[in-house]
Amino acid sequence: MLSPITLLLITAALCVVMLFVLGSLARSGMAGVSAWRAANVLAFVALLLYAGRDTLPGPLTIEGANGLFALSIAAIHVGFRQFFGQAVPYRLLAAGWLATVTGVAFFHYAIDAIEIRTVVVSMFHGLVCAAIGVTVLRSLSQARARYPFYFTAGVALLLALGHLGRGLMYALQPDMQTAFYQATTINLVFLSVGTVVLPLLTMGAVMMVHDRLLAEADDRANRDYLTGAWTRRALFQMAEHELRRAQRHRHPVSLLVLDVDRFKQINDSCGHAEGDRVLVDLVRRAGAMVRDIDCFARLGGEEFALLLPYSDTAAAMHVAQRLRQLLEQPEPGALTMTAYTVSIGVATLDRDEPFSALLGRADAALYKAKHAGRNVVRLAETASACG
Ligand code: GH3
Ligand code: MG
Ligand code: MG
Repeated sequence: MLSPITLLLITAALCVVMLFVLGSLARSGMAGVSAWRAANVLAFVALLLYAGRDTLPGPLTIEGANGLFALSIAAIHVGFRQFFGQAVPYRLLAAGWLATVTGVAFFHYAIDAIEIRTVVVSMFHGLVCAAIGVTVLRSLSQARARYPFYFTAGVALLLALGHLGRGLMYALQPDMQTAFYQATTINLVFLSVGTVVLPLLTMGAVMMVHDRLLAEADDRANRDYLTGAWTRRALFQMAEHELRRAQRHRHPVSLLVLDVDRFKQINDSCGHAEGDRVLVDLVRRAGAMVRDIDCFARLGGEEFALLLPYSDTAAAMHVAQRLRQLLEQPEPGALTMTAYTVSIGVATLDRDEPFSALLGRADAALYKAKHAGRNVVRLAETASACG
């Protein structure tokens, strides 16, 4: 059977592997990575100290190993809190850690009881693992893919159960004087649960970093560099998806196409940089007005589109008028003091028409708005009227 010392050494080696993996993420600048690296260094040293039990002095293999190992799980938790941008409960962690180390020392020097030391250590690990599981589940809204979150939370909660079960077992059966290092099956199972925590949670953390890096890359590819609005490509993708849903469930979808009036004049009289600021200002203010489910995109130049799911013609006309009125008033203290107006064309999805047809109709309505004198909203003809 695998000896406990071998198991400890294998897990220590796994921590080194995890350090190499985390090293590859060092340049990502992602919050939490430094804490996870520190955790693996601490765990590596702690596991070697546990493994050196027969050769090293007691304070090193008992207080030293348990203290460092408890610190490593706390550091993993710190990493997750930082990664999700949440406050780190440093005081609570420090108090828990101090209580654990004090408990270990007490049940070493005052009363020498390995089973109570195991209970103390397992409780701390179990509670921190539970806190990690809850933190990850509560941050699910930040996920692009749910798998890394479910994996990490699942591992953390299972390990919490394992630790608490181990603690309970030792607490309820104090005659289990069996040293932790004896190669009984149950001891090996619990030892594995205890030591495999760090590599498993680090794997979960790495998966979540990758998920976020992919989300950031996606976002960069789908956002207009100047204004931060969605790109034309992103709009077409979202529109395809939205139109399919709308046609299946028969809910309305509308589209606004808006264009800055006499933008060339702004460029010519105030400079291209001021023209750019007008575009950024427009996106910022329009973006603050629209709902999360709406898609505000830059079609090109000074022309934008706003896709409005679940909005019929009346609702879309209302949004268009509000938007037009909002933008014609320069905002005090805004990015640009140049006054500008927009003309808007509005169209509502008609039966099975493709997105390109909807866009074409909204564009034609915009053209009518320009002809009507600008700074106005015009509604498109229905698809059937367009033939
Ligand atoms: P209209 O009211 O008919 O829309 O007139 P307009 O002047 O807004 O339209 P026109 O198409 O004549 O001019 C659009 C100008 O927008 C021309 C182009 O140089 C400028 N433009 C396109 N993209 C950008 C950009 O990213 N930044 C700036 N500053 N100008 C841009
Ligand atoms: Mg224009
Ligand atoms: Mg234009």
